[in-house]
Amino acid sequence: MPDIGTVENGGMEHPPYLSGLRLTGRRVLVVGGGGVAQRRVPHLIAAGADVHVVSPAVTPAIEGLVGSGEVTWHARPFEDGDVAGAWYVVAVTDDTAVNERVSELCEEQRVFCVRSDDASRGTAWTPAVGRHSGVSVAVLGNREPRRSAALRDEILEGLREGTLAARHDHGGSPGVTLVGGGPGDPELMSVAGRRALMEADVVVADRLAPRELLGDLPGDVELVDVAKLPRGRSAQQEEINRVIVERALAGKRVVRFKGGDNFVFGRGYEEVIACREAGVPITVIPGLTSPVAVPAVAGIPVTHRGITHEFTVVSGHLPPGHPESLVDFDALGRMQGTVVLMMGVENAPLIAKALIAGGRDTTTPVAVVCDGTMPTQRTVLASLGNLAERLEAEQVRPPAIIVIGEVVRVAHPDAF
Ligand code: SAH
Repeated sequence: MPDIGTVENGGMEHPPYLSGLRLTGRRVLVVGGGGVAQRRVPHLIAAGADVHVVSPAVTPAIEGLVGSGEVTWHARPFEDGDVAGAWYVVAVTDDTAVNERVSELCEEQRVFCVRSDDASRGTAWTPAVGRHSGVSVAVLGNREPRRSAALRDEILEGLREGTLAARHDHGGSPGVTLVGGGPGDPELMSVAGRRALMEADVVVADRLAPRELLGDLPGDVELVDVAKLPRGRSAQQEEINRVIVERALAGKRVVRFKGGDNFVFGRGYEEVIACREAGVPITVIPGLTSPVAVPAVAGIPVTHRGITHEFTVVSGHLPPGHPESLVDFDALGRMQGTVVLMMGVENAPLIAKALIAGGRDTTTPVAVVCDGTMPTQRTVLASLGNLAERLEAEQVRPPAIIVIGEVVRVAHPDAF
């Protein structure tokens, strides 16, 4: 009998040949019913194997699997005939002589056999395994199970966090993914969004998207900077629609990367429509939207029990009374709840007036949070009555979120 396991190669051991066994419905023999068997059996069941455990006694956990019909238990010592018909054998008794006998028979019958007592004497090794998003990860260390398991954990964590992504191997299909990048700090982006970004062939990015992440993109990714596209509201959007559709039709994975959430004043749905019309598949990964996230990082809750039962997010890009405005500032003035004003720095003085005219008190507290989640973040406190002066005095520039309402007093009780 050859000395199994230690196949010499001029003093060097050959590396194992790694393979994924498809065990569905196939007989797998586990000899032994102790702690090692208990760790191996669930993986075999998960692979769909027809698991037979041969052992006079088994652990309660294995017994439970027997009870639920997931494994067959032969409550007796190993017999030579047990190997017949098995595709794969796991010899994990605490009796070296038994393991030895099992592996001998396996060798004769050309069945791969794992041995727990002396891995070097088995014909197969069990890697540390894990799965993430349909990918199986197996790490086979140099008989250092702790190191393999630690490495496996690192890889899985990298996959989960998106810091590790096999862009060209993931088998994803071409199309457009709208990715919301959150308010600016890359840490505040979703795991799904980060993964989509790392797997993209083309990234079409806005000015407010977390730009630091773009630096991490592999060199061959095409980066389309929207800030450099032709100006003008419709011209630019038409060009974006054209670019994303064209690249996707050319078989690319396109990410449309924006700050916050693509559907909150982000024109994201225009891109959805353009893709639909062109027959391009589209996926949406929501982002943490700034009207909620920016006040939060500045320590201001948009709701508070007993203070407000509503918060209204309003675009301030048009002044009150503008023929194209769709906002009823009068109604907002009559309401009590929090108003979160976006794109409102320029029109804030007129909007404050309109809210006061609608019924809000001039002393209503206001917080203007600039560059939320960025290193330059700052909060300017004001009231509806003096908002215009405060914005001027503090030289507030966009991007800023303007929070109007009693929740500002809750966060800054001494300032008002
Ligand atoms: N889709 C984005 C909003 C785009 S509109 C979202 O969901 O957040 C652009 C406006 O968002 C800016 O004028 C500003 O009012 C607000 N904004 C976005 N990011 C911001 C930030 N980091 N700090 C302050 N305001 C921000």
